[in-house]
Amino acid sequence: MKLTPIEQWIMQKTGMKERNRKALYAWQLEKIKGTIAYAKENSIFYGEKLEGVEERSIYTLESFQDIPFTFPRDIGRNPLDFLCVPQKKVARIVTLRTSGTSGEDKRIFFTEEDLDLTVDFFKYGMSCLTDERDKVLVLLPGSAYGSIGDLLKKALALSHIECIVHGVLSDPEKAARCIEEMGITCIVGIPIQVLCLSRVKSGVFRNNIKKVLLSTDYVPDAIINELTQKFGCKVFNHYGMTEMGYGGGVECEALSGYHMREGDIYFEIVDPDTGKVVENGQYGEVVFTTLTRQAMPLIRYRTGDIASFSASDCACGTFLNTMKKVLGRIENRIPLGENRFLHLRELDEIILPFEEILDYKAYLKDGYKFVLELTAENDAAFDRVKGRVMREMEDLLSNQPGCRPDVAVIPAAECAPVIINSMIKRKIIDCRKER
Ligand SMILES: [Zn+2]
Repeated sequence: MKLTPIEQWIMQKTGMKERNRKALYAWQLEKIKGTIAYAKENSIFYGEKLEGVEERSIYTLESFQDIPFTFPRDIGRNPLDFLCVPQKKVARIVTLRTSGTSGEDKRIFFTEEDLDLTVDFFKYGMSCLTDERDKVLVLLPGSAYGSIGDLLKKALALSHIECIVHGVLSDPEKAARCIEEMGITCIVGIPIQVLCLSRVKSGVFRNNIKKVLLSTDYVPDAIINELTQKFGCKVFNHYGMTEMGYGGGVECEALSGYHMREGDIYFEIVDPDTGKVVENGQYGEVVFTTLTRQAMPLIRYRTGDIASFSASDCACGTFLNTMKKVLGRIENRIPLGENRFLHLRELDEIILPFEEILDYKAYLKDGYKFVLELTAENDAAFDRVKGRVMREMEDLLSNQPGCRPDVAVIPAAECAPVIINSMIKRKIIDCRKER
């Protein structure tokens, strides 16, 4: 099994002499101190928030745990307060829409150098699964300068790998034609979209696609299993978010968790309630600190994503940490009773195995009504699957003590294999007025 290329990237970037975590932590600690000093000096937010924090007093990564967290709502309140460079140095701005009632839109800023760092990470990240013989189709947004597709294409070009940035999947016919005409072997995309394409165009998929990289906050096992078993694809997961500069971590050939972008980002996992760092092997909220970011460094940023660091070493032989597959967002759940929740990932695992379903949305409405809106290929397909989905839901909920929502399964307004969501993270949509 090939050692993760992320290790080589980190060794080169840090100039470390020894291959071990201790040396990496020492390098990261120095970078953290540098980030704190830089952010305090150049950003209004950290100038105020970290006033009185002496970076020199941070002797160990343990003492760094006393530094206060940064929350997404802090960025929402005033993104410009995070900016550390003159506005003319900003090469890209991403606006992240927060749906629902809470929070304002977040804006994330990058300089040219910040974007280059992502390209450099993507180059190594993509070499986890591709080489010069591959041709890559990117089903992610890519028309804008500095968008994820644009950066991926630049990264692959550095490795002399051909890449077509198709954009978010809206027309499976067109995507399938592109795969055949260009001889595509590898797809990078959003899990539900890649699943949809593989179901609608299974022949083209089977004949061409060897490798898939899925990127999101949560990749359902149901999708990985189907692509692996039905088409013999190797399915790699990537974890990242815009705030990280898109890239965060990518799986090696062992396919048992991500190796992280530790040359640019320091990761912690904390108990979401107490904020205390948890042991490896325990689940908690992913928190990160940027080590090399110019425009908008983030210090102990709470992602809202649930994951754990593996307690054992990866089979690829790296000294790097392995983060177990992210379980999705803390908020993506509906209460079923005391300390018991129904998570979006549980819905994914029972709903997505039905091949008739191309996408679905879940709503929680007033009167504790829970609505599943299924997108099927046509009305007949919806009729075939509706009763079975209902039974699965009843099974799932019948094991739960406490209150049970009133479940309804309805067809999506447009029953077509066209995906509505773009890069919006999947979530249970809470429409309740009374809360
Ligand atoms: Zn590995």
